[in-house]
Amino acid sequence: MQNAKTNIAETSGSVNFSETTLKNFWSKVNKTDTCWIWTGCTNAVVYGGFNIGRRQVRAHRISWMIHNGTIPKGNGYHGTCVCHSCDNPLCVNPSHLFLGSQSENIQDMIKKGRNGVSFGDKNGMRKHPESVQRGSLCTTAKLDEDKVIQIKKRVMGGEKQSSIAREFSVTKTTISYIMKRKSWRHVSI
Ligand SMILES: [Zn+2]
Repeated sequence: MQNAKTNIAETSGSVNFSETTLKNFWSKVNKTDTCWIWTGCTNAVVYGGFNIGRRQVRAHRISWMIHNGTIPKGNGYHGTCVCHSCDNPLCVNPSHLFLGSQSENIQDMIKKGRNGVSFGDKNGMRKHPESVQRGSLCTTAKLDEDKVIQIKKRVMGGEKQSSIAREFSVTKTTISYIMKRKSWRHVSI
């Protein structure tokens, strides 16, 4: 390899990564007996990112290309996805990766019960259940653990849910969900 430029040359289905790139890549992978965990920069939410030139490519896609060549283009806006049979977004083990269209990927996620709020390999919003924040960590929460405890105590003390709702600027439904343990289940008094 004459030039050490870290770029992808896509020629007739194969992808030539420079040795530097490959060395760099594998130095950031922790191979376990099952999944090979990407430990490098993780982009946005949970997907591993890897810088090649100025493009950021998801680590599992790189791994797929190293082992199989170019990822075929695919019809949809999002093109072809590299999906995980192990459902571990950080895994780069080629035997756990398979190609699917965006819709197959979504179907696959739904089948596995991982239908988060947003989908998509490119929108950076793909979520894994453990990355979904609960309670006051969630930026849209008007309540926090302390307030929920207060609410629970006051409702149990016989106060009207509607007046508590007004005071905390939430809806009555929010209060009743708290009391029915449909939300804020992790807060107990
Ligand atoms: Zn895996």
